[in-house]
Amino acid sequence: MINQTPQQFIDFLKKENIKRFHFIYDEKKGKVIASHKQLQAVADFLDNDKRDFAKHEGLFFQLTEKYDILQGAFVHRTNRGQAAGGVRYWSYGSMEDYFRDGLRLAKGMCYKNALAGLWWGGGKGVMIHNPKFDKNDRELRDYVYSEYGLFLSTLKGCYVTAEDVGTNVEDMNKIFSNTRFTTCISPELGGSGNPSVPTAKGVISGMEAAVEIAGLGTLEGKTVAVQGTGNVGEPLIRFLFEKGAKKVIAADINPENIEKVNKLFPDKNLQARIVERGDNSILFEDVDIVAPCATGAGLNPESISKIKAKIVCGAANNQLEDSERDDKLLFEKGILYVPDFLTNRMGIVNCANEQYGYVNNDEMIEKHFDKNWEFSVFNMAYKILKESKENGTPPAETANKIADKLSLENHPITGHRSLKIIKSLIDK
Ligand code: NAD
Repeated sequence: MINQTPQQFIDFLKKENIKRFHFIYDEKKGKVIASHKQLQAVADFLDNDKRDFAKHEGLFFQLTEKYDILQGAFVHRTNRGQAAGGVRYWSYGSMEDYFRDGLRLAKGMCYKNALAGLWWGGGKGVMIHNPKFDKNDRELRDYVYSEYGLFLSTLKGCYVTAEDVGTNVEDMNKIFSNTRFTTCISPELGGSGNPSVPTAKGVISGMEAAVEIAGLGTLEGKTVAVQGTGNVGEPLIRFLFEKGAKKVIAADINPENIEKVNKLFPDKNLQARIVERGDNSILFEDVDIVAPCATGAGLNPESISKIKAKIVCGAANNQLEDSERDDKLLFEKGILYVPDFLTNRMGIVNCANEQYGYVNNDEMIEKHFDKNWEFSVFNMAYKILKESKENGTPPAETANKIADKLSLENHPITGHRSLKIIKSLIDK
């Protein structure tokens, strides 16, 4: 069953007349309980998996009436609050790939939220695109995301969604039309808007912690290579110059973005170049810091062997091609890697507290850049890099250990309420 293609699996669901199903981890029995006996093979897969299943509290699914789209909500851990994380709309070759992605992403969000000091648990939405239909068709999207909103309402708030790869603000508004359990809606409807500038600020904080740990003082006089001059890369360059960086080298595959940054910083020592897709030469520049701010998976054994910088710190999601192997490789090479899920937290931070409203110079945002707050990006990065050095464990591994512990702390007001919600969903 797990090896089936999504279409085979969907055909099976239809044959069995299963429109909604779930898998819940039963703490007392120490095993996963499937909603339907026909789906026991999936529960067995989860129970036996050592890599991605981490006693996720609940996995919920529905198949849409139209378009045959499988929609999922993966809830990892909710001690700190409702599971929060974006909804991805993506194509998958097999059901195993799909389940693994959801499990991994949900746990990743749990750790990201915990390290950010947010009182949120971790979860992720993942929907499988059906290649028979045009993904960009607005009618299809309106239907798919409206259905997802209805689906979330039935989950009674154990998972609160957000924007992710393959989903845009218009889609989020569609979700919002059918549920209150979403964030990242458009500013006209009360959403928080583009988080890229705070994300760039978070990267700067991570860099500041790394240069200090490396005994290099501050960002003043440093040279930095930035891969990708988009929404995050561009303000990052601005902040770097404001911090007194001596030189910034930047690369982007989009000529317009290169032209834009050249115009923005005419009197600064900026060397911005257009590169071909797949040209990663920017990562190998002889600089103090490399900042991956384009796509993920750029750090692998081949690229790591060519990196000359002492620090890698950027915004791109999932920079390590293999999270364990490449974390270790960078560490062994003496390169300080500031985990991406720590530095790029401001995306989720920005939208996570939308329901509390907005004030100027919002303390709920600004504290993430404040060296006096225990959970600020600087302090967390400093703590992780310091412990990594002292314990001889790579930084991402160190960060995961710290995050795991934090993620088990109960919300100070609501406690482990979302687990109660999950239980109430199945106790009919
Ligand atoms: P973006 O699309 O605005 O910018 C990415 C830039 O990278 C684009 O200009 C693109 O042309 C360029 N690019 C793509 N492939 C490249 C390559 N091989 N070499 C050089 N340039 C390349 O995206 P963004 O919002 O700036 O986000 C950048 C990264 O940070 C992404 O991985 C994103 O998932 C992650 N991130 C962003 C935020 C945020 O607040 N925007 C938050 C968390 C994580």
